[in-house]
Amino acid sequence: MENCIFCRIGSGAQPCLKVCEDEKTIAFMDIAGDADGHVLVIPKKHCENILDCDRETLNAVIGMVKRVSDHLVSRCGYDGADILSANGEAAGQTVGHFHIHIIPRRHGDGLGGKGEWPHFTGAKQELETVYESIRMI
Ligand code: AMP
Ligand code: ZN
Repeated sequence: MENCIFCRIGSGAQPCLKVCEDEKTIAFMDIAGDADGHVLVIPKKHCENILDCDRETLNAVIGMVKRVSDHLVSRCGYDGADILSANGEAAGQTVGHFHIHIIPRRHGDGLGGKGEWPHFTGAKQELETVYESIRMI
């Protein structure tokens, strides 16, 4: 879809800070600047959100979410990750192309404790610096 920003990222028409890629998906840095290491995973194929996403595409997306999360914890010094996704405007979705947010977490990072959703307090490091430390390709 020509006017869809994430389709354009998926096809390479729009630049992004690419963390990882496979045949069906791409992981890249979120530009929000709200949390260090905030990554998005999208399918290259357009779907609005999980509600209209076919099983095969969904499996590919969640597979990439796991791959990136494993990497963040096993190789980048993080202790865990919040995995979040808004599906539908009513749920707060702002970009109408399915995506899953990965927020890498460290003990005592100040983003929220046990039983709390993370509070986004603003990135503390430059986006490019974090990107260089977590990119997989
Ligand atoms: P949501 O509000 O859950 O739909 O999330 C949309 C996310 O897309 C937000 O966190 C935005 O910061 C992010 N975003 C929008 N445009 C871009 C872009 N060109 N590159 C990277 N992230 C983007
Ligand atoms: Zn799209």
